[in-house]
Amino acid sequence: MRTAIVVGAGIGGVATALGLGRAGWQVTVLERAPQLGEVGAGISVWPSAVKALQQLGVTGLEKASVVSAPAGMRRPNGQWVVKASALGLELPVMVHRAQLHELITSGFGSGVTVRTGVTVDGFADGAVRAGGEELRADLVVAADGLRSVVRDALYPRYAGPRYSGYAAYRGIADVELEDGGGETWGRGRRFGFARLIDGRYYWYATENRAAGAVGDVWSAFDQWHDPIPELLEATKPEAVLQNDIYDLPLPLVPFAQANVALLGDAAHAMTPNLGRGACTAMEDAAALVRHVTGPAAIPAALTSYDAERRPVATKLVRVSRNVGRVGQLDGRIAAAVRDGLLLTGGKVAGLLARRRSG
Ligand SMILES: Cc1cc2nc3c(=O)[nH]c(=O)nc-3n(C[C@H](O)[C@H](O)[C@H](O)COP(=O)(O)OP(=O)(O)OC[C@H]3O[C@@H](n4cnc5c(N)ncnc54)[C@H](O)[C@@H]3O)c2cc1C
Repeated sequence: MRTAIVVGAGIGGVATALGLGRAGWQVTVLERAPQLGEVGAGISVWPSAVKALQQLGVTGLEKASVVSAPAGMRRPNGQWVVKASALGLELPVMVHRAQLHELITSGFGSGVTVRTGVTVDGFADGAVRAGGEELRADLVVAADGLRSVVRDALYPRYAGPRYSGYAAYRGIADVELEDGGGETWGRGRRFGFARLIDGRYYWYATENRAAGAVGDVWSAFDQWHDPIPELLEATKPEAVLQNDIYDLPLPLVPFAQANVALLGDAAHAMTPNLGRGACTAMEDAAALVRHVTGPAAIPAALTSYDAERRPVATKLVRVSRNVGRVGQLDGRIAAAVRDGLLLTGGKVAGLLARRRSG
């Protein structure tokens, strides 16, 4: 029986473990947190990632998720800049992260062993090191996130995560609203929200600030249009998450070296502006399982995995970074020019979409 060690039990790691386990592999997942789980926030899952989850054998997503309403972008005073309903765009489903994580891990069979409270502290001579232990397997999957220890061991010269210049807040509001959601872009700040299947709202916000600073989302957005202040008031302060936003420098390192594969944020951490980081991790997982369960030997299979996934991820890291740069503009004139261009672009795209459909 083939064996794998998966370092990290985030969405990317557990998705990979599920797929390998279902293919008959003996999988050991090493996770430093004391228990399995995900943070209290929503997540957008795009159609390509829904397909990847199906390929990996995840069931029940439709009962935990809701298709996002086509919303668009507003100014802080509530004026619409772009209405997405006119554009005929593809839409993601929204799901609570913890629910998605549980949907994946609930599919683990007897082939998957999860060891929580185990911190991997190195990788050398083909072995994963954790405390005094040395662990080996046919395949090692580094799904240990932005600050991957395994990536550092494989590519010690690669510059580490790069600060974007802004931080994100996330929360879940227990409130009834008529508003379908969307994004609002101001100067150096953005706010977005979407309904979850249980009627609550997931919201996120960004703010330009120095790395390590702590902000106050309530005062930063209290003058913004309805229902933003209402969403914030309906959120438990202790449950609000704050993260400095980092991504990985380009060019990305190869996602494969000998029998080790990098996956998810460990390979291609991107800013959250496209809502695609975890989706890309799930798509990596489906691709990795497909390649390593084919006829090729593992190193060759991993070379094919890298050739398939690195170009896709590189483009997403770049585009997401650029969207963030534009979205976080804080000069009055620059932000006004941006909004004007988006308004015109939105009108043209709407016209083209109507022409295509009629
Ligand atoms: C504000 C925000 C909003 C986002 N919104 C979306 C969205 O809507 N849609 C989307 O697709 N993506 C979104 N993302 C991106 C998404 O959260 C990440 O891309 C995704 O969680 C990465 O999953 P991962 O499994 O690769 O890594 P992680 O989630 O970082 O998991 C890594 C795991 O490895 C463990 N670990 C780390 N080091 C070690 C070690 N040394 N030993 C053992 N275990 C270790 C960690 O504890 C963790 O459990 C968002 C990100 C942010 C910050």
